[in-house]
Amino acid sequence: MDTFELIEKNDHEQVVFCSNKLVGLQAIIAIHDTSLGPALGGTRMWTYKSSDEALKDVLRLSRGMTYKASVAGLNLGGGKAVIIGDPNKDKTEDLFRFFGRFVEGLAGRYITAEDVGTDVEDMEFVRMETKYVTGISRALGGSGDPSPVTAYGVYVGMKACAQELFGNDSLEGKKIAVQGAGSVARYLCDHLAKENAEILVCDIYEDKVKAIVDATGAKAIDHEKIYEVDADIFAPCALGGIVNDDTIPKFKFKIIAGGANNQLLDEHKHAEVLLKEGILYAPDYAINAGGLINVSNEFEGYNQERALRQAETIYQRIQQIITISKERNITTHDAASRLAEDRIRSISQVKQIYSGVSNFSGRLGETATRR
Ligand code: NAD
Repeated sequence: MDTFELIEKNDHEQVVFCSNKLVGLQAIIAIHDTSLGPALGGTRMWTYKSSDEALKDVLRLSRGMTYKASVAGLNLGGGKAVIIGDPNKDKTEDLFRFFGRFVEGLAGRYITAEDVGTDVEDMEFVRMETKYVTGISRALGGSGDPSPVTAYGVYVGMKACAQELFGNDSLEGKKIAVQGAGSVARYLCDHLAKENAEILVCDIYEDKVKAIVDATGAKAIDHEKIYEVDADIFAPCALGGIVNDDTIPKFKFKIIAGGANNQLLDEHKHAEVLLKEGILYAPDYAINAGGLINVSNEFEGYNQERALRQAETIYQRIQQIITISKERNITTHDAASRLAEDRIRSISQVKQIYSGVSNFSGRLGETATRR
């Protein structure tokens, strides 16, 4: 597909190609939609094989951010940036500062943050050139590690699913299989343990599993056997694409509710299969929005208590999504998209009405000088 066709396909507002030969910068910033507010999304650094591959990725990711922000009820639009390069070899202060100049040039239409391949230190270089950056360290007044808030959102979202399926939202005695024992999983397991859930946890690294087992009394399981364990709830907190043709037939789970991004290998097809199988799926970008809620809090002066309170609304969002899914007989994935699109549409209308009013009142005092 031609570059302009790709950009127009999902109605992206603006795509900026950033290049600087001196420091070896090749980056693309994609602004998908700013109806709700400035486009916020992280900067991914990856060894893309071509600029075409990088463009496709940034267009897909920025669109996803529009939906995520909208479902989370935030006044933010969707954007994302990618830097073509090897995060283990190609990072320099100059590279990130030049990139920061491009972000600054967008005058607040795009706000960046860390993502796969970039970290807080990189964002601190970006911040030397622009104020339009979030996800900086607590020491510099930023929000720091988003995982506690993400995990809390996943926990309350999981409870909303339990309410729907089991008639009450207690997770006491529920068997919950957690894939991955990283940052999100660690905080999630703390909440689950406090509620006396029966936790099964796995990772490809034994020491990470041991840390959770020691802290929460969880049971360690083989990471290759996770898809077939007999558990009520599956909480993917590691990789994407793990709900697919190979894994679904093994599932005995009744609920999938976890923090990982892009859990469904094929969003539409696998959401349909889960619906047919009677497995309740909490759409990943709705249940893991705590991370975005966390960084968005930096605009008001970061306060983790407030971020956690906002993440609590994920409970209602998941309930709304389930209701839409049942009423319209569509998958929860499609229901989340409808919720996001409806909100963008209605807020855009409100904005249009208000701008119409102010334009009109502005003209009331004018006198036509030419007839
Ligand atoms: P992390 O890197 O701290 O943890 C991921 C863990 O998964 C690691 O311990 C890794 O060893 C493990 N893992 C990798 N492959 C595995 C496999 N095959 N089986 C079992 N374990 C495996 O990452 P995180 O910050 O905890 O994020 C987890 C997921 O949640 C990611 O998909 C991330 O994109 C998503 N997410 C995170 C946040 C956040 O606030 N950190 C926000 C939104 C979404």
